[in-house]
Amino acid sequence: MANHLFDALFARHTGSDAVFLRLPDGHVQSYGAFVTSAQRFANALCAHGLKPGDRMALQLEKSPEMLALIAGAIAAGIVFLPLNSAYTPTEIAYFVQDSGAKLLVCDGRFAEPLTPVAAASGAVLSVLNADGSGDLADLARRMDRAFSPVERAPGDLAGLLYTSGTTGRSKGAMLSHDNLLSNARVLTDCWHFTERDVLLHALPIFHTHGLFVATNVALLAGCSMIFLPRFEVGEVIRQLPGATAMMGVPTFYTRLLDEPRLTADLVRGVRLFVSGSAPLLGETHERWRARTGHTILERYGLTETGMNTSNPYDGDRRAGTVGRPLPGVELKICDAQGRALPRGEIGAVEVRGPNVFSGYWNMPEKTREELRANGFFVTGDLGRMDDTGYVTIVGRSKDLIISGGFNIYPKEVELLLDALPGVLESAVIGVPHPDFGEAVVAVIVPASDRAPDLDAVVDELGRNLARFKLPKHIELRDELPRNAMGKVQKNVLRDALRGRFRA
Ligand code: AMP
Repeated sequence: MANHLFDALFARHTGSDAVFLRLPDGHVQSYGAFVTSAQRFANALCAHGLKPGDRMALQLEKSPEMLALIAGAIAAGIVFLPLNSAYTPTEIAYFVQDSGAKLLVCDGRFAEPLTPVAAASGAVLSVLNADGSGDLADLARRMDRAFSPVERAPGDLAGLLYTSGTTGRSKGAMLSHDNLLSNARVLTDCWHFTERDVLLHALPIFHTHGLFVATNVALLAGCSMIFLPRFEVGEVIRQLPGATAMMGVPTFYTRLLDEPRLTADLVRGVRLFVSGSAPLLGETHERWRARTGHTILERYGLTETGMNTSNPYDGDRRAGTVGRPLPGVELKICDAQGRALPRGEIGAVEVRGPNVFSGYWNMPEKTREELRANGFFVTGDLGRMDDTGYVTIVGRSKDLIISGGFNIYPKEVELLLDALPGVLESAVIGVPHPDFGEAVVAVIVPASDRAPDLDAVVDELGRNLARFKLPKHIELRDELPRNAMGKVQKNVLRDALRGRFRA
């Protein structure tokens, strides 16, 4: 029987001695051992009474067990929902209820607060710890090592990935077997991954970046991963000499640049550095190249679509752009009605392709708003495409500022600010204003060695920008609020500053 995703990613590694995971304590796990572990988990899920199509929520620490449990769910046709380990029980209650999960698997630390959560929605609670203990691990060990994967067609639902929800209610993106597989195939090919690679993996695996981009590419290529529980600069520095590739969010790169031990010699075995999930500053791009000799490859994607664009492996990797649409992905810059705009104009980014999800779980209206009948998904990002097809993301449509009837794209102001002496980074937001509707406010994080001269900042912006784009208030902060994936939480800044111009 065919199981679209399991066959391509896991079944073909059955019995293989090749190394899949290298753990920081020196332990390794072979591909064959990993597949056996996945099959035992598949049997354990069936023993819990789960049937194909049932949902399983998991709030776990990153570990080989967590990956094997997800692989086991794929084999058994069970829809998996990986959840951020930082979520509170109240947040978990929403996901379990919304998805109708029959099983909630958690780390032992969360078992007590999650017991009433599971009970309230009639889910079974089971424990799986990162060290391989817990009742689900015990059950899996008692199970048969063989499992016949349940038949799953390309369009069948594989996982529900809840959006990171920096605004509004988090939505469950329904991702099919082929959404995940087609994207992994394209990326493996475009980024030239082979079984000889060693991918340094320090991303969380509850998010599309660490789970689908990094892990699925490694599985398809059959390469090994240095599997770190989290990003920790010292450990990453220790492991980099053994890696051929790293995928990271921009903060990985800025933090590594703060570390004097990062040198060209340290990374001489690396062939590829990839960045995504949030915009990479042009300055980081330049500093990385100057320090290591490597040009970071930036790509762009979302929970709902996987990856949509990438800078080229061979060719011009342009700072500040996310490259061109990946093979098979159509990307348009549109007006509000979905009509394509001329090249060079800023508009809504819409994408269509085998990578695009089929809708939001239990939210037909939200799905209709964001997924057009013609298959194009309205990403909520604003962007521009140049004559050569390179795409630049200029912000989220929700972040667009309208002041006195004029549109202001925060990115335009942020780029100018970031280039000024004494500015480490910035975030530009709109806050309510009695006269203008919204007023532009700039939040600046000063560089560690010097503070910006605010008069000079105002002069410089005034020379470069139309008056309506100028900040009506500039605020200094030690850091910008960020979520787990390094995205700046502009909603947090807007909330903090919304009273600034109250009449
Ligand atoms: P998520 O669904 O958590 O993966 O977040 C997706 C969002 O991250 C996108 O809609 C973009 O706003 C942002 N994003 C991802 N990659 C990039 C990138 N390379 N540059 C700018 N924004 C990005």
